[in-house]
Amino acid sequence: MLDAEQRERYSRQMRFTPIGETGQLKLMRSRVLIAGVGSLGASLAQHMARAGVGEIRLADRDYVEWSNLQRQMLFDEDDARLSLPKAAAAADKLSRIASSVRTEAIVADLTAPGALEAAAAGCDLVLDGTDNAAVRLHLNDWCFRNGVPFIYGGVAGAAGMSAALVPGSTCCLRCLFGGEEEQESGDTCDTIGMLSPAVEMIAALQSAEAIKWLSGNRGELRRTLVSAAVWPFAMREHRLPASSAGCRLCSAAAIAGDVNQAMTQTMSAAAPVSKAADAALAVSKTTAVLCGRDTVQVELQRTGNPGMYRSRLEQLGCTVIQNPYLLRAELPDNEGRFVVFPDGRALVQGTSDPGEAIRRCEIYLS
Ligand SMILES: [Zn+2]
Repeated sequence: MLDAEQRERYSRQMRFTPIGETGQLKLMRSRVLIAGVGSLGASLAQHMARAGVGEIRLADRDYVEWSNLQRQMLFDEDDARLSLPKAAAAADKLSRIASSVRTEAIVADLTAPGALEAAAAGCDLVLDGTDNAAVRLHLNDWCFRNGVPFIYGGVAGAAGMSAALVPGSTCCLRCLFGGEEEQESGDTCDTIGMLSPAVEMIAALQSAEAIKWLSGNRGELRRTLVSAAVWPFAMREHRLPASSAGCRLCSAAAIAGDVNQAMTQTMSAAAPVSKAADAALAVSKTTAVLCGRDTVQVELQRTGNPGMYRSRLEQLGCTVIQNPYLLRAELPDNEGRFVVFPDGRALVQGTSDPGEAIRRCEIYLS
């Protein structure tokens, strides 16, 4: 039963007949994972918290920067000044928007072994707030293996797309767009920028489908792919394709149970490591070039308090700041920046060349 405060708080949402008090109670008993808390994710997080979703897990591998503030609606200048991880800054904001919502900040790369399994365990659905195909496909594969709906969204420039993909009911993301190679070939925020109204439009489409599912209105899900743009304006709705006959995740054969083997194959395809980079690994290996950031993420061999690098970085002329979540070092002569997290990841900024990023790690973080 709802108490008086909850009744008032959610009154307008409950007056919307398909939700009502029953739907509100279901929302409050729900648990979701927001994978990626950047542009889409920050907006998705607000929608879920304000709707009264009971538990929100926020997973992101990055931290707040000045260039995020134009479109990532949860963050402010203090978050950027303090270089707070997006997941932690978002959890803090959500607790002020809706103190009864349980939040969990997960500062990690969801493609690391076991990370997604832990983050998504027990969730009713996964909301896509990512900005790259490898992570998105990893989410898709986990969701389809585990029977959890995946609410896809993607934005670049003034346009975006969204679809609710439901195991056993719709095709998966691989059947919709192909694998990593096909998906990486399109425009990204790196090449054509990103407008905040486009982000909000796609986040709204995703959030509406999530609220339908979580409030028990599962038959109301929009079983289409929407592609939309705010400038120039366009909106189209496409029927979702049937599962590819050979898809090991969403075809009839996969649903019948032959999914574990498929996962072994698709997961190894989803997280490729360049052979050239692998051979050069004295201290680290490249894991990802971050979208739109002139940044490479490098996985270090050591995990633990990044303060262990502090004295060497300072000896080499870096300006170092540290907060409970990360260490940030500005290299001398404006050569770039390192951000090191306790889970052993380093974001090397000022280059998009994986070889150069590894070289800098070997010099500064050895
Ligand atoms: Zn499929």
